[in-house]
Amino acid sequence: MTNVEKISSDFIRIIINEDLKTNKYNGRVYTRFPPEPNGYLHIGHAKSICLNFGIAEEYNGKCNLRFDDTNPIKEGEEYVKSIIDDVRWLGFDWEDRLFFASDYFSKMYSYAVDLIKAGKAYVDDQNAYEISYNRGTVNKPGKNSPYRDRSVEENLELFESMKNDEFKDGEKVLRAKIDNSHPNMNMRDPVIYRILHAIHHRTKDKWCIYPMYDWAHGIEDSIEKITHSICTLEFENHRPLYDWFLKELNIYRPQQIEFARLNLTYTVMSKRMLLELVNNDIVNGWDDPRLPTIKGMKRRGFSPSSIRDFCRRIGIAKVNSNIPIEFLEYCVREDLNKTAPRFMGILNPLKITIENYSNDLIEYMDVINNPEDPNSGIRKVPFSKSIYIEQDDFMENPIKKFYRLSPGGEVRLVNAYFLKCNDVIKEDDIVKELICTIDHDTKGGNSPDGRKVKSTIHWVSLKNAINADVRLYSRLFTIENPSGKKGQDYKEFLNPNSLKILKNCKIEPAVSKLKKFDRFQFLRKGYFCIDPDTTDKNLVINQTVELRDRWLKIKKKGEPS
Ligand code: ATP
Ligand code: MG
Repeated sequence: MTNVEKISSDFIRIIINEDLKTNKYNGRVYTRFPPEPNGYLHIGHAKSICLNFGIAEEYNGKCNLRFDDTNPIKEGEEYVKSIIDDVRWLGFDWEDRLFFASDYFSKMYSYAVDLIKAGKAYVDDQNAYEISYNRGTVNKPGKNSPYRDRSVEENLELFESMKNDEFKDGEKVLRAKIDNSHPNMNMRDPVIYRILHAIHHRTKDKWCIYPMYDWAHGIEDSIEKITHSICTLEFENHRPLYDWFLKELNIYRPQQIEFARLNLTYTVMSKRMLLELVNNDIVNGWDDPRLPTIKGMKRRGFSPSSIRDFCRRIGIAKVNSNIPIEFLEYCVREDLNKTAPRFMGILNPLKITIENYSNDLIEYMDVINNPEDPNSGIRKVPFSKSIYIEQDDFMENPIKKFYRLSPGGEVRLVNAYFLKCNDVIKEDDIVKELICTIDHDTKGGNSPDGRKVKSTIHWVSLKNAINADVRLYSRLFTIENPSGKKGQDYKEFLNPNSLKILKNCKIEPAVSKLKKFDRFQFLRKGYFCIDPDTTDKNLVINQTVELRDRWLKIKKKGEPS
């Protein structure tokens, strides 16, 4: 990993600048984000979205949202809908430029006819196995198909019959006639059309032949007059093929530019693996907050701006790398620190009774909503005779350097009073309750006599507390690169403790006014958000990130250079 936090003019922008200088595309910058609707989007897609839409924005150009829907078997409306949702949620706008490869099927068909007429494509009767076998290997040239020299007329007739539903799946294919001993395997007479009796989610049963991805993709870009067709590295050796098609068809040709995929530590990003995790109920749906999907990150409480910020800061590169997930969390934390209101919530409650406080009194303490945001205002937080504090803010036999509450010790209850512990009530050796007193002269949390306490802890009034389920998350996998271990299934590295649910957490009442997905900080605990499972009766809260930052430490250690 070399490029974290480097914000510079990257190699793609350098190419675009050069093209603008030479007026290659008459000053136009036109990009697209081309997802295949066969899964939900993840953080890797976010990188591509930010790059394509970002470049269009920066250069006053345009970016299309285009679905590459050429494989009806794996694609569907559910995915189209979720992808549209996610790109919009990330904050990008394609205006009226929502396109589908399937809208171009007729055009792609007629281009294939043109290629046949030019003697550059033929119908092959070999089956998939024979085609693959005869293609040869990297070290061995392929063998020409016995059907390669069919006449143009015969090819035209057969291709039309393919379209007219006269053959079974796999009986015939259309192949480009290029070179079966080409060092680039992609150029060895690639299949460009296949017979597939499948219902397409948009064109229904109109077609029983479908274009292959490699045939379709370059044509889509060409039809839309894309200038810079940005894709990931695995397509680098497909570029000669795309260029060959467009040259033979004599149609507009965009410039393809490849960049490295984003990979994140402690997670998986392959659609196949994500599908498996979801379909086998290993996680709770596509929006499980442990997944790197956009829907998962939204539910986890990541803001769109923090994701955009992350994508910008990691930059782009030509070599694949694994970005530490801690850096993503760092970006999320930075954003939430500025924007998230603070509340008090007790995750593991310990009851405190204040002996010297009136039974029925409720005082309302003034608390600043967000010390980082001068416009965030103040709220009133109720205080009463019985309160909750965190269990781990108390130690009956304090170890060295434990400055929080202990018998005889004094702490500050934030924005409330100094509090002293006088007695410990136990059941079966477990601490059940503390009997305490407050110093009435310290209201607001300040001592008039200059007396100092070493610790300030948070609290929630028992009478006013609302109950909540709090879902705590840790890494979904136990190792950095779960899909990179040869011979081992990534599922072997699932973390059995990635989700922990705390019941009956005690939350200050103001949190009940928040809406689903609202993000906030629990003082001293971290960032959280309201889970959409929340009902009128049951508040459900997701942990977003801890307060503690691990990124700066990792960076300091010099792990990533
Ligand atoms: P597949 O093609 O195997 O179904 P995919 O992850 O490439 O999966 P697409 O729907 O084709 O999914 O992706 C849409 C766009 O997002 C493509 O341009 C692709 O290059 C880009 N993209 C996908 N994964 C990443 C990633 N991890 N990092 C950066 N860009 C990505
Ligand atoms: Mg792809």
